[in-house]
Amino acid sequence: MMGCGKQTRVRPEHQALVERLIEETRPRIHARGTYRVHPVTRMTDTELALGSYPPVRGPIAGFLRPATRVAAFVVTVGDEIERLADQRLRAGARLEGYVLNAVGSAAADAAVDALADVVYFEEAGADEALTPPFSPGYCGLPLEEQISVFAVVNAKAIGVRLLPTMIMQPIKSVSGLIGIGNSEQVEAHGVPCQWCDLTTCIMRR
Ligand code: SF4
Repeated sequence: MMGCGKQTRVRPEHQALVERLIEETRPRIHARGTYRVHPVTRMTDTELALGSYPPVRGPIAGFLRPATRVAAFVVTVGDEIERLADQRLRAGARLEGYVLNAVGSAAADAAVDALADVVYFEEAGADEALTPPFSPGYCGLPLEEQISVFAVVNAKAIGVRLLPTMIMQPIKSVSGLIGIGNSEQVEAHGVPCQWCDLTTCIMRR
């Protein structure tokens, strides 16, 4: 999140700062999430239809192909960490503001992982597995596809709004799709990161 590659040596003072700010922000991170599972009506390389909801358009099959059901989700960690980062930036503590932004983004990603665990334990059958979470704005899925995700899921229930600019409010929120399908087929399909050549991607799984 802070631009350090795998081989980059992290300076001890930066490590200490990150650890201090994680501890400071822990009580200010309020992770919430919501999802709705819907059977797949139609899935092509470029489109996913979930009943009468507006279709999601993008490189769908590469991520979700073996799925017979899809969980549309939104998670947030609230707006306290973003306000804290803003305060530090305005006070001239630029490094602290930058680190706090990174901590908030990492927390939102951790919230997605936690939500995926809930989807797995609550929704998947004994012979089913999940595909990796797939979010608008990443992996070739246009940011505008958030409109379709928000049509399926009740994001208001967790206090998240999608602004006309396609930015979510609170900013430290993530929306996306998780497929649920036969575990052998999910495993055989693999994850798109295995054949994706975007070497600079920090979301690689
Ligand atoms: S490497 Fe990054 S861009 Fe490519 S499929 Fe994985 S997460 Fe998406």
